[in-house]
Amino acid sequence: MRIAIVGAGSAGLAALRHVVLLLATEDPKSQGKVTEVVCYEKTNQVGGTWVYTPEIGVDHYGLPIHSSMYKSLRTNLPKEVMGYPDFPIPENDKTKPEENQVPGSSTKWTVTVKNLETGVVAKEIFDAVMVCNGHYFEPSLPIIEGHDKFQGQQLHSHDYRVPETFANKTVVVIGAGPSGMDLALEISSKAKQVILSHHNRDPIHTVFPENVIQKPDIKKIDETGLTFSNGEHQNVDVIFYCTGYKYSFPFLAKSCGVRVDSNMVTPLWKHLLSVENPTLALVGLPFYVCAFSMFDIQVRFTLKFWTNEKQLPSKEAMLAEEAAELKKKLDKGLEKRHFHMMGPEQGDYYDDLAKTAGITPLLPVLTKLHNESSMRFLDDLVHYREDRYKIVDDFNYIQL
Ligand SMILES: Cc1cc2nc3c(=O)[nH]c(=O)nc-3n(C[C@H](O)[C@H](O)[C@H](O)COP(=O)(O)OP(=O)(O)OC[C@H]3O[C@@H](n4cnc5c(N)ncnc54)[C@H](O)[C@@H]3O)c2cc1C
Repeated sequence: MRIAIVGAGSAGLAALRHVVLLLATEDPKSQGKVTEVVCYEKTNQVGGTWVYTPEIGVDHYGLPIHSSMYKSLRTNLPKEVMGYPDFPIPENDKTKPEENQVPGSSTKWTVTVKNLETGVVAKEIFDAVMVCNGHYFEPSLPIIEGHDKFQGQQLHSHDYRVPETFANKTVVVIGAGPSGMDLALEISSKAKQVILSHHNRDPIHTVFPENVIQKPDIKKIDETGLTFSNGEHQNVDVIFYCTGYKYSFPFLAKSCGVRVDSNMVTPLWKHLLSVENPTLALVGLPFYVCAFSMFDIQVRFTLKFWTNEKQLPSKEAMLAEEAAELKKKLDKGLEKRHFHMMGPEQGDYYDDLAKTAGITPLLPVLTKLHNESSMRFLDDLVHYREDRYKIVDDFNYIQL
C-alpha cells in the first residue's frame, strides 16, 4: 500500500508515526504491507493548531491562516491527558507546503498537489488516504438579524490573538463553549465590560471577574449594539463570535463519498472510515476527547483494517451502526451537529475501537481525568489550570 496523509498536525503526526512503524516492521504478519507514505502539509511547519502565529487572514502563499491559537493559550486539559499513549508530555513542561485535492475511487486515490513555492502541480496515486486536516479553522458564524448594520467591530475567535485588541471596550462574547468561556475571562483583563451571551442548558458555576456578566441569546443587532431575547438593549463596541467551527474538507471531491450534513461528517464507520470508500480515513473528528491519544488509537484501528488483519463489516452493517448512534443522540435531545461530541462517552468509544480491531486500548484513567478536568473548567474557570494531577495506575489519578 502507498498511503497519503493530508496534514501534519497532531493527528497527522500520529498517523505518520504508526504508518512508518508499519513500514519498518519485521513482524511477518504485517511486513511488506505498506510500501510508502507521503505526508502533505500546507503550512511551513508541522504541529497544526499548536503553531502560534500573530498573523490572521491569509498567509504568504495566499492561503487562509489555519491556526486559531491565541498568544496566551494554555491547554485546557492537564498534561497527563494531552500526550500520546507512548509519548507523554515531559514532566518539566508546562515538507514543503502543498495544497491538494483528492478525487477518489474505491481502490486508488488520485491526490493533486501543488507545491506552493514553485507552483508546480502534480498528481500522485495512493492506495489509501488519511485526512488529518483539523477542524478548528473554518469559522461557524450565526446569521443574526441586523448584523450587517453594526458600525463597531465584529470578530470570530479564529482571528483573535491578544486581549489588547479589546482594551477599554464593551464586548459581547457570543457562545459559552470552551473558547467563549476562556476568552471572556482572558479579555476581561483589558476590556471595560464583557457580556457573555449564551443559551447553555447547564448553569455556569464559575465566578467571573466583576466586569463579566451573563446574558441570554441575542435576538437582533443594530447600528450601535444589540437586543437580547429578554428584550434588553445594550450598546457595545465589539461583537466577538465564539461560535465554533465547521467541519470542512474543501479538497475532497464529491466522489470520495463523504459529505458534511449539519456539521455531521457522514457516512462514516466509527466516526472514522468512509463507508463508501473505506481506504479513506478521516482522523480526529470527535471532540471533547483526549485528542492526541484518540488520534493514536484511531490510526492503529485504521491500519488493522487497511492491512487486512481485520475484515470490515458489510456496508449495510456500517450504515446501520451510524444510524443507530445518531438516533440514540437525537433521542437524548441532542442535534445532528453533536454527533461527533464525545465528552463522558469517550471511554466507550475508545474501548469499542480497541475491541473491534483487537488493539491495545487507551488507559481508563485518561477518560476519568479528562472528565474531571472538564467539570473543573465549568465550575472554576479562573483557577482550574492550577490543579496538578499524577496518574498512579491505569485506572486512578491523585490530585497533588
Ligand atoms: C484555541 C484552541 C485551543 C485548543 N486547546 C486544546 C487543549 O488545550 N487541549 C487539547 O487536547 N486540544 C485543544 N485544542 C484542539 C486541537 O485542535 C487539537 O489538540 C489538535 O491540535 C488537533 O490536531 P489535528 O491534527 O486534528 O488538526 P490541526 O492541528 O488543525 O492540524 C491540521 C494540519 O493539516 C494541515 N492541512 C489542512 N488542510 C491541508 C491540505 N489541504 N493540505 C495539506 N495540509 C493541510 C494544516 O495546515 C495543519 O497543519 C484546541 C484548539 C483550539 C482551536
